Amino acid sequence: SSGSEENDVVVIGGGPGGYVAAIKAAQLGLKTTCIEKRGTLGGTCLNVGCIPSKALLHSSHMFHEAQHSFASHGVKFSSVEVDLPAMMAQKDKAVSTLTRGIEGLLKKNKVNYVKGYGKFISPSEVSVDTIDGANTVVKGKNIIIATGSDVKSLPGITIDEEKIVSSTGALALKKIPKKLVVIGAGYIGLEMGSVWRRLGSEVTVVEFAPDIVPSMDGEVRKQFQRMLEKQKMKFMLKTKVVGVDTSGDGVKLTLEPASGGDQTTLEADVVLVSAGRTPFTAGLGLDKIGVETDKVGRIPVDERFVTNVSGVYAIGDVIPGPMLAHKAEEDGVACVEFIAGKHGHVDYDKVPGVVYTHPEVASVGKTEEQVKALGVEYCVGKFPLLANSRAKAIDDAEGLVKIIAEKETDKILGVHIMAPNAGELIHEAALALTYDASSEDIARVCHAHPTMSEALKEAAMATHDKAIHI
Ligand code: FAD
Repeated sequence: SSGSEENDVVVIGGGPGGYVAAIKAAQLGLKTTCIEKRGTLGGTCLNVGCIPSKALLHSSHMFHEAQHSFASHGVKFSSVEVDLPAMMAQKDKAVSTLTRGIEGLLKKNKVNYVKGYGKFISPSEVSVDTIDGANTVVKGKNIIIATGSDVKSLPGITIDEEKIVSSTGALALKKIPKKLVVIGAGYIGLEMGSVWRRLGSEVTVVEFAPDIVPSMDGEVRKQFQRMLEKQKMKFMLKTKVVGVDTSGDGVKLTLEPASGGDQTTLEADVVLVSAGRTPFTAGLGLDKIGVETDKVGRIPVDERFVTNVSGVYAIGDVIPGPMLAHKAEEDGVACVEFIAGKHGHVDYDKVPGVVYTHPEVASVGKTEEQVKALGVEYCVGKFPLLANSRAKAIDDAEGLVKIIAEKETDKILGVHIMAPNAGELIHEAALALTYDASSEDIARVCHAHPTMSEALKEAAMATHDKAIHI
């Protein structure tokens, strides 16, 4: 390895933040090394996050459709069954193909890739215990911390990845649990709960807060929860887990109302703890070089992604902001642009968020609650998918588009979509928000017919004027 020569940029962590930063740095002509301890690139997202979860969501959706929808479309067969090992193998193949692909991209861009655990010995030197048992020191003028995040448990609950699993274990269960309890109604819990619900598990989601996915627009959230309940997902909101007993065959949970009161018990074969993620900086030696972290372990940075130690930067899940792969990538590009003397920019208010259930729920910009809290006068335009011809044509018409615009200027402030492919539809809205478009701007764009995108156009019409098809 060329580790002993000084690099312009050293990136610790090969997740979506780190590997993207490394590629961009090399493309900008900077000599770059990327250090990753896992043995494969792509980080949480590719190895145990976004990608394997989307693989299983798709496979389980196909099974569910085959069981419940094909017949009404005139497609009949005598029986349908799940081959779980084959389903897992397809997921694993997707992951391994993509991780190898990223390794190829690093090579193509001449990024030096060091497989091992990095730890600071000075603000410009990282000691790496390599996977093959050696040690090397990597030097860099600029060092980017992109060490991401890790699963978080709850007090008194030990994750064994068998009976009590994190999202990582939930992506690799060896059999379909009869009863699955999900602790935490965030997007990861609801996505993984959906996978196993479709494959036949009875799923109960226990959540301390009064609502599921707290960041979601309230009105959309209500419809979303109803839709999940229709899919027979059960919710116990305002409920806390106060005891976990794994001594028997399964798991016995003791529950209590969030505000205190009578205890109840709930049995499960498998419990998924999805109560959030925590920044990962273990063994990195931050204290050694004086890099500060905040109360919850994140590394504060300035607008150029510099930590309190000059020459040391941080990006992605390890810094404040939405813990999402695409946000980590944007951070990585902007950070490296600053290092190269250019200008980088990431607007955390315009990072889209997607829940990949069926239908999907996607949003960008502000919720109605947030706009209200700002005291801005606003208009809301809505269009139900039930009135969209494409959604009706394919008999998948649950959902809506909701647009919130400033009353005085019609400038779009937030867009919320529940639709089968909301995660794709949202980008038209992200583009509109980025260019400060008005709802009239969207309404006047010719949209192809029949598409679900027309629902966004109609909602835009309804925001400043009237929709046609309702
Ligand atoms: P990470 O991806 O966590 O990568 C950090 C890397 O650094 C890791 O590979 C780690 O091994 C390595 N590392 C850490 N310390 C060291 C060290 N000292 N030396 C060397 N290497 C080190 N986000 C989305 O946007 N869309 C989704 O659909 C989505 N689904 C998800 C589903 C699940 C089940 C989970 C758990 C997460 C999901 N996420 C999703 C979140 C997403 O995975 C993260 O936001 C994203 O991976 C953050 O990227 P990162 O580069 O900051 O960190």
